[in-house]
Amino acid sequence: MPNNRSLYEKSQVFIPSGVNSPVRAFGAVGGTPVFMDKGKGPLIWDVNGKCYIDYVCSWGPLILGHANEQVTEAIFEAARNGATFGAPTERELEMAQLLVDSFGSIQKVRLVSSGTEATMSAIRVARGYTGRKKIIKFEGCYHGHVDSLLVKAGSGALTFGQPSSAGIPEAVTADTIVLSFGDFQALEDIFTKHGDELAAVIIEPIAGNMNLIKPPTDYLKLMRKLCDHSGTILIFDEVMTGFRVGLEGAQGLFDVQPDLTTLGKVIGGGLPMGAFGGRADIMDKLAPEGPVYQAGTLSGNPVAVAAGLATLRQVLSPGFFNSVSRFTKKLADGLTQAGKKSGIKLSSQAIGSMFGVYFSETFPQSFSESVSTDQKAFKQFFHEMLEHGVYLAPSSFEAGFTSITHGQEELDKTVFAAQKALKKIAQS
Ligand SMILES: *Cc1c(COP(=O)(O)O)cnc(C)c1O
Repeated sequence: MPNNRSLYEKSQVFIPSGVNSPVRAFGAVGGTPVFMDKGKGPLIWDVNGKCYIDYVCSWGPLILGHANEQVTEAIFEAARNGATFGAPTERELEMAQLLVDSFGSIQKVRLVSSGTEATMSAIRVARGYTGRKKIIKFEGCYHGHVDSLLVKAGSGALTFGQPSSAGIPEAVTADTIVLSFGDFQALEDIFTKHGDELAAVIIEPIAGNMNLIKPPTDYLKLMRKLCDHSGTILIFDEVMTGFRVGLEGAQGLFDVQPDLTTLGKVIGGGLPMGAFGGRADIMDKLAPEGPVYQAGTLSGNPVAVAAGLATLRQVLSPGFFNSVSRFTKKLADGLTQAGKKSGIKLSSQAIGSMFGVYFSETFPQSFSESVSTDQKAFKQFFHEMLEHGVYLAPSSFEAGFTSITHGQEELDKTVFAAQKALKKIAQS
């Protein structure tokens, strides 16, 4: 019988670092990555047969939990009729209409196969539309592994102390300006100085790749105002927050409409899919009508779109979002209480179906505050929780995710595990 350790050792021979995406390697927390065997609802089982309550949910997509019956059925049905045509299908139209109906800021939308493709394409069309080069991003925000955006990025890039990657020529990032998330003055200054050269501002309107961080009040409103004034395209990267923090993403929560929005994760229902969309006059710059080239052999793939539609129909059903958000709030409250009892500095908050756990007295508000939370305590907490059958993201710079299948039993077990874990940390 293969086990986690033997599979990891063998994988390292054939796959760089043994994984197909860096954070999976447990680099930040040490130890052996858990090789997954199967999942059902809120639970996953590793190849050793150990069961865990899953708060990673494949890094966001699985808001219905694992192996949802309607999604599985939709995947089978679509696959039986042909996995791909490279020609338009009716389902793509249905998905596009659903996204346009859900987001007030989206008039036209294109489907792609990943979040990375979505942000890459959004930046390109923004540059094509404005005829300008410079873009602004924010420290600790992650927008996929797009060359020009892999500067001071969050998620795995941050976890491994490589917020900027090798293999990207300086010329490619020369027009990327990086600002501190939440700094009003820096934002105003850069617009004063470079306003008429700025093609786009791209931001995670609620950051989820340096743990979970809310922007300060009116920060996004200021951004909207400055972009309007200088003719700069405002891009909200809602790959993670779309259908996660609310039914209209973070833009709905803060009532700020971007020019372009990128989506991914939940909209693919666990299969590879992303999307970018927004103002029709910008989107119409795309080929073949317009001069900005963008394409994809598997874009709008029938099986992925079927999984996405089966997911979104459930997410949009009455009561769904309140229910998943209520659970997430209870979880954050339970973890906060467990922290208080133990005397360990811990805080936790929920936003929709996402949550943050921070080893600090208050919620971090910026990249530097997130980095200065207690990393050692997190590492210990992660391993104790794993031992007790609770699967958290193996990095303190990731947000947590819940699903509609997480209920009272999972809540009680998780809080109990946290109490035991924190007690042990307090004694060590
Ligand atoms: C996950 C993520 C991406 C990248 O999506 P992939 O599908 O992994 O390429 C982009 N932006 C944000 C905000 C993300 O969380």
